[in-house]
Amino acid sequence: MWRSANHWLTTSVLGIPSKGRVVEEFEMELPIPPYLFAFAVGELDNREVGPRTRVYAEAVTQLLDSAAKEFDGTEDMIREGERLFGNYEWERFDLLVLPPSFPYGGMENPRMVFLTPTVIKGDVTGAQVVAHELAHSWTGNLITNKTNEHFWLNEGFTTYAERRIVEAVQGEKRALLNIGIGWRGLNEDVERFKDNMELTKLKNNQEGIDPDDVYSQVPYEKGFQLLLRIEREIGRPAFDEFLKKYIATFKFKSIDTETFIDFLKANIPGIENKIDLVLWTEGTGIPSDAFEPDSSVYKTIVSLANESVNGRMPREDEIAEWQGQEWELYLDNLPKSIEASQVLALDSRYKLSESKDYEVKVSFLQRAISCGCKAYYSEVEKTLKEVGRMKYLRPLYTALVKDSGNEDDKVFAKRLFFEARECYHPIAQGVVEAIFGKHM
Ligand SMILES: [Zn+2]
Repeated sequence: MWRSANHWLTTSVLGIPSKGRVVEEFEMELPIPPYLFAFAVGELDNREVGPRTRVYAEAVTQLLDSAAKEFDGTEDMIREGERLFGNYEWERFDLLVLPPSFPYGGMENPRMVFLTPTVIKGDVTGAQVVAHELAHSWTGNLITNKTNEHFWLNEGFTTYAERRIVEAVQGEKRALLNIGIGWRGLNEDVERFKDNMELTKLKNNQEGIDPDDVYSQVPYEKGFQLLLRIEREIGRPAFDEFLKKYIATFKFKSIDTETFIDFLKANIPGIENKIDLVLWTEGTGIPSDAFEPDSSVYKTIVSLANESVNGRMPREDEIAEWQGQEWELYLDNLPKSIEASQVLALDSRYKLSESKDYEVKVSFLQRAISCGCKAYYSEVEKTLKEVGRMKYLRPLYTALVKDSGNEDDKVFAKRLFFEARECYHPIAQGVVEAIFGKHM
């Protein structure tokens, strides 16, 4: 455990070397659950980006400079979080940019969040992952779920808190687009679990189950939906007040769903008569009073994607303000019938396969594989060998072994995995193996 993250790299050597060893001691005075305890070892350097934030990364000047630029607005987000959820209790909020094999977008280790380098895109949109990890400082790190069966208490609250921070910092339109993307993800995962509806419950039975095997959007997005449902019932000011009280009451504790529900009922009398809390927390699927988002940006993009069946491509003025998220949505919604020639035309106009933004590049490559555009296979190979983030491995390997329906693609996928495997995190290796197991 570390005394203070701003010192831990340089001044915390308290022991004396003996037999070629150095003993280091760190002290963390605030209680944290064991899953939030992490080590980072490497030749690291840092840049200061705010009064309580430094960005750490391997000592490569260009990486550090672009990371510092990308996360320049972090202090604004911390202040927004404090306004919404109460004091930031962890003193420091430092960021560590890891090598590209890191399998997640981010990990919310208190005082020093771990991040994939793929969030550095040069246009400050990477701030969204930071907003999520920052939100965990209140929901997840301050109040933790007692067991993984109540995981939604971590991620549902954090998704809600993240979107409130995004709304405050980047505007309502962006927050609503995120809700739209989340809603689609929730519906897809509920469909994916149609043979195991237990996993569509907020509070579910995970006896004998490896949580990594059943990871989904359900705790994030259905949890978010329940909190939004309550907010819409009692109004935002009352809900904000409730949230602050909830956080202040249970901070530095681990709780379960029942504790939350009891607290909710005690503080908002009669809420159980307006919202079926048992159905929401113990029922399967998506309750009918969930909020189906109505984002105009979302709709415009989906209808543009549908128009591609007539050979229509979005015009420069239509995509002028698009960021990675918009492109990803557009590409994901392209009809299955789209032809390889259209994919090639789209790329020659907008250079998507060369995008520095992995969300865009991977969504594009996924479409290219599904259409059998062999021209992009060297780019697919390069991508799968340079990053290990599961968000990219999953769609690309799935496209190769399932969507394309081509035997050569399966052989290609196997060879790639054989050559890249050692560079992937063990959890990511397991995910790829599971995809192979299911489709080969
Ligand atoms: Zn999270």
